[in-house]
Amino acid sequence: MKKKMALHTKIVIGLILGVIFGSVFHVSPSKIIVTAEGKQTEIDNWSSLEFKRADSTLAVFDEKSQITAIKYFTKLKDKSSIVMEAVYPDGMRETFSKVSGMSREKTIGVIFKPLGDIFIRLLNMIAVPLVLASLIVGAASLTDIRHIAKIGGKTLGFYALTAVMAITIGLLLANIIQPGQHMTEETKQRLMQAYQDDASSKIEQNISLNVVDFLVNMVPKNPFKAIADGDFLQIVFFAIMTGVFLSQIHSERTKAVIGFFDGLSGAMILMVEKVMLIAPYAVFTLISATVAEFGFNILQTLLLYSVTVVLGLAILTFVEYPLLLRIFTKVNVIRFFRVQRPVIAVAFSTSSSAATLPVTMDVCEKKLGVPNKIASFVLPLGTTVNMDGTALYQAVAAMFIAQVYGFDLTITQQLTIVLTAALAAIGTAPVPGVGLIMLIIVLKSVGVPEEGIALIIGVDRLLDMCRTVPNVIADSLACVVIANSEGELGNINEDSGNFN
Ligand code: ASP
Repeated sequence: MKKKMALHTKIVIGLILGVIFGSVFHVSPSKIIVTAEGKQTEIDNWSSLEFKRADSTLAVFDEKSQITAIKYFTKLKDKSSIVMEAVYPDGMRETFSKVSGMSREKTIGVIFKPLGDIFIRLLNMIAVPLVLASLIVGAASLTDIRHIAKIGGKTLGFYALTAVMAITIGLLLANIIQPGQHMTEETKQRLMQAYQDDASSKIEQNISLNVVDFLVNMVPKNPFKAIADGDFLQIVFFAIMTGVFLSQIHSERTKAVIGFFDGLSGAMILMVEKVMLIAPYAVFTLISATVAEFGFNILQTLLLYSVTVVLGLAILTFVEYPLLLRIFTKVNVIRFFRVQRPVIAVAFSTSSSAATLPVTMDVCEKKLGVPNKIASFVLPLGTTVNMDGTALYQAVAAMFIAQVYGFDLTITQQLTIVLTAALAAIGTAPVPGVGLIMLIIVLKSVGVPEEGIALIIGVDRLLDMCRTVPNVIADSLACVVIANSEGELGNINEDSGNFN
């Protein structure tokens, strides 16, 4: 009989093929499609681009500034009066008037991305009803409120422990490797110029983190709004309250309500398993599009910084987590990681802990033997507040930017980073790219210029993929540790469910 290929093997193949496909059909870093006077022209290998209005030159971009030039044009007002000149290395000039559009080419490497986007949307679609329904059922089965408080306390304690350990790893590596000491002034200026606009728009969001506000905001004014906004902390709060009080009413009435949510959560879990069947193709399209669009070139410029972050994330995932698993449980490390494969692939390709949550939940309950009442509480909480990878990255990034700017951070300032990075990671929404915005808080706390984020924006997408992996693995780890401490951890069953 023909043996079917396991889903995780297909996903890994999708991932590898995605990298290859994206590298082969990468988007050119210089080619630009210009729409002028209703006609599209492709320009390539230019040495500079000049934007003019009447006789005055508005801006000039060099050949390394393709994306910046396009962004500049997009933001320009009254585009019809713009004249653009492409200057070539031999001095030739090509003039375009009435320019109405400028864009990068669309290669076949990015063309299939809509399938990946549908996959992410499906997972996000499932996440909110799944968390709501399964937590209500889970909380309703915990008849003793003190039990919930105990699990909550342990969960937060464990999350705090792993976050501090992660940040410490990041700080140690940044002090040993000193990635910011090796950047030349020329590279610094080039990165600052290229990403300064992006950085300003992030800084303008003016985020701040206030612990009291954070706690107050956990209580939703309107649970339906919380559900509509996908605010997990508020949903968790509402679901626990509802579940607890459902369990307090010993009446026939609650049976129907709990049965309804039980059925809903069952349907959502089944939906995740079916959606995961398209994961290999979706992962392929997402990885291919990312590699095609961002390429690996920028990694060379920020090599030492990227290596420091990735090394830190690897130590976190493959040294710290196995160690904690050994200390707190008897679970076999290899088997634990084996069942995490679909979780890792989805986290890596979507860069979103929220989109990965339904998969993590399914794996924890079906394969790791964590009871629903624990998984449905620990996982959504962890998805929102527990971001070890992000915290580690924020610590390294803050140190890196400080080093490039020539700041020598004292021990006290580094301890401030431990605290603020832990808080900033808690405040980071579980979606792509937010870790970078919250980094601004860490920079502010130690007086490092916020504009410095321009230095690292270029590699952020790729590092986001990497940091999301430990973010989600830590949630599964916490689930196993808490369930074990409550004496409620079942056996690992690698063959159950659809993710084999
Ligand atoms: N993408 C990360 C996550 O969803 C958050 C971040 O670090 O930007 O876990």
